[in-house]
Amino acid sequence: MALGATSAWGWGCEGHQMIALMTRSQLTPAASAAVDKLLKDNPISAELSRFCKDRPTDILADLSTWADDARKAENTGAWHYVDIPMSLRQIPASGTSVDQWCHEEGKPDSGCVTSAIHDQLAVLKDLTKSGSDRARALRYVVHFMEDLHQPLHDSDNNDQGGNCTTIHYLKDEKPANLHGIWDYRILQTEMARRKLTQGAFVAEIEAEFAPNRAKWAKEKFDPATWAWEGHLLAVKYTYGLLKPAIPVAEPGPAANCDAERTKVAALNIAIGDEYINQSLPAIREQLAHSAARLANLLNATL
Ligand SMILES: [Zn+2]
Repeated sequence: MALGATSAWGWGCEGHQMIALMTRSQLTPAASAAVDKLLKDNPISAELSRFCKDRPTDILADLSTWADDARKAENTGAWHYVDIPMSLRQIPASGTSVDQWCHEEGKPDSGCVTSAIHDQLAVLKDLTKSGSDRARALRYVVHFMEDLHQPLHDSDNNDQGGNCTTIHYLKDEKPANLHGIWDYRILQTEMARRKLTQGAFVAEIEAEFAPNRAKWAKEKFDPATWAWEGHLLAVKYTYGLLKPAIPVAEPGPAANCDAERTKVAALNIAIGDEYINQSLPAIREQLAHSAARLANLLNATL
């Protein structure tokens, strides 16, 4: 699949749509109807090219990937992630704030995934705003709540969140990058090897995490803490399971992407079934948890 080589895409079409489908089934009838009305009354531009070719009939799932398609036109690339440095291996005693990695003053697309969630949620709640502004805000809130749960959207090893890496993936001839592997490759591999349709995969994950629902429904809305959660998963699984390991970079200005790719290529890292099987439980839980949190948020908001 041809993805922008250095774009922080945030789950592929599969992951984004699956989270949205799981979210839909947890919406109250009122919130579900409000989502549909807002999105249907304020359609996106018909000219916008949609990357995901398998378009789900559920409008919430379909529009969950809109923010990736619109990122260039809207100049909102920075809103999809927050770069917590890989050198931080635990939550600091100072707390879970991610502000120091969030705002780059003077940049037109300043901000990060956590600030974007807060800012867009404020627009969505503001009934004095136009329907089109609130629909756009809803599309952003949905997408960023999903991106937030992809560990590489909360982590960076001076490699653009794993984009500037060169890693062998299964028997692929062409090397992949770690970001793409977590966005969509592992999910696609799992669906292909078990011949799972998207609907069957969604049903399986929903059943697996149904016992967590009551506990998750009581969680306080806290994107910064959730970013740290994702970051720690990147420490433990995404980077932690690589053999050999990629050396942990000291925080600093981002390395030259090509140089970083060459450096990592020399390590000859291969991801095989063992890595995939150890990562999948965490990925499945992130998909389910993202949906539960997004549903809680929309039920409380709309
Ligand atoms: Zn994204």
